Amino acid sequence: MAWDFSTEPEFQETLDWMREFVDEEILPIEPIAEELTLDQLRAITTPLQAEVQKRGLWAAHLDPELGGQGMGQLKLGLMHEILGRSVYAPSVFGNQAPDSGNAELIAIGATEEQKEKWLWPLLDGKIHSSFSMTEPHVAGSDPTAIICRAERDGDEWVINGEKWFASNADVADIIVLMAVTNPEAQPHRRAGMLIVPKGTPGMTIKHKPGTMSHPQHGPLDGRGGNHCHLLFENARIPADNLIGQPGDGFVLAQKRLGGGRIHHAMRLIGVCHRAFDAMRERLVSRTSHGKRLSEHQMMQDMVAKSAVEIETARLLTLKAAWTMDHSGASNSRAEIAMIKYWSAKVAMNVLDRAIQIYGSLGYTTDLPLEGMYRSARALRIADGADEVHKVTIAKHFLRDAEPVEGWPTEHIPTRREDSLRKFADLIELHTENL
Ligand SMILES: Cc1cc2nc3c(=O)[nH]c(=O)nc-3n(C[C@H](O)[C@H](O)[C@H](O)COP(=O)(O)OP(=O)(O)OC[C@H]3O[C@@H](n4cnc5c(N)ncnc54)[C@H](O)[C@@H]3O)c2cc1C
Repeated sequence: MAWDFSTEPEFQETLDWMREFVDEEILPIEPIAEELTLDQLRAITTPLQAEVQKRGLWAAHLDPELGGQGMGQLKLGLMHEILGRSVYAPSVFGNQAPDSGNAELIAIGATEEQKEKWLWPLLDGKIHSSFSMTEPHVAGSDPTAIICRAERDGDEWVINGEKWFASNADVADIIVLMAVTNPEAQPHRRAGMLIVPKGTPGMTIKHKPGTMSHPQHGPLDGRGGNHCHLLFENARIPADNLIGQPGDGFVLAQKRLGGGRIHHAMRLIGVCHRAFDAMRERLVSRTSHGKRLSEHQMMQDMVAKSAVEIETARLLTLKAAWTMDHSGASNSRAEIAMIKYWSAKVAMNVLDRAIQIYGSLGYTTDLPLEGMYRSARALRIADGADEVHKVTIAKHFLRDAEPVEGWPTEHIPTRREDSLRKFADLIELHTENL
């Protein structure tokens, strides 16, 4: 089947507008963002969000019945490539993680009453959310191992356990919590998805670790971006706060991942474009040993490798998006795993080269490159570690591989015998005619 990544002229106009809007209105927020209070920051972003809403581009990843455009992953991918240019762009466009994925999850599993309570306010940006699946004492790569427990007691769920790396939990109005509801069930039917409102007695934030992005502890208090260690000690929530059925946790968690990974990957491509532009500018601006940096072959090697890697990651991601649009998420698992792993790897490579090309300046916080590098590093772990995605890729390609007895299919002496037999008549005829 042919792939088609072409863009209609009207949609290209939308992309062009987005690119200009991100570069002119959102990128200038970056150099001052950390000096601003949350109120000051919101004063700047709220009118930008209004402009995005006016153009019908707010939360574009959602289905039309939820106020999105149902435009498909390919177009969304192209949009996210532009949004990746600035960390502030996703929140201006209503698709910042984890709210975007949580809204999708709630939309799939929630009753009408639950949607009234949480989904619409989340989509309108009136409330914020956190997603909490990972735990400190079991491998997040194997969520069937989670131990945080939610037990039904009358018309309440009682939660006990620990959670880890719940991004934004300290500023969230609701936490979408995955906890064991059916301990005796099959591994993928053991957990349910529950909504834990802010301030629920028995839920405390034990720790906000510093990270590579923000090394100091609790670095972003009140701002979002912290990854919280949560403690649940007999925390009680209403029975109605369960999304779907007990045991639906895995199904719901899986649903929020496919498109989100394409968006992650395309945003990383956006990061790469920015680093690549910075790299090219420096190479033609600075000289060493009597010639421009751009004329040194080792520098050209860095440009060539970066260009090829960005292009391959971009095309692979667009192909994954196209496959998802045409064959659905479940038939795109290998493609999605490939781009989740490969886009993060490429981003690390390109950012590392950009830092190298800028030398000492690249290593400083006077340029955004080192910060982009530290942030991008998370994507080799978050949302599934590289190795886990590689397992998915390998399983996909190995599943229909045929074992062979004796010599391998490519064994040349065996193939030679076969070839001599296959062409025996022609060879003999030709020999007689000589
Ligand atoms: C920035 C960031 C934000 C995050 N936000 C959230 C969030 O909001 N909510 C949430 O619930 N979680 C979140 N996480 C957690 C994330 O999902 C987990 O870190 C991830 O699933 C890996 O789990 P782990 O950290 O327990 O590592 P482990 O599962 O202990 O894995 C450690 C390493 O072991 C190796 N490994 C594990 N399994 C395999 C395997 N099958 N084959 C080969 N090697 C393997 C890999 O190298 C892996 O990196 C976030 C993480 C980061 C870094």
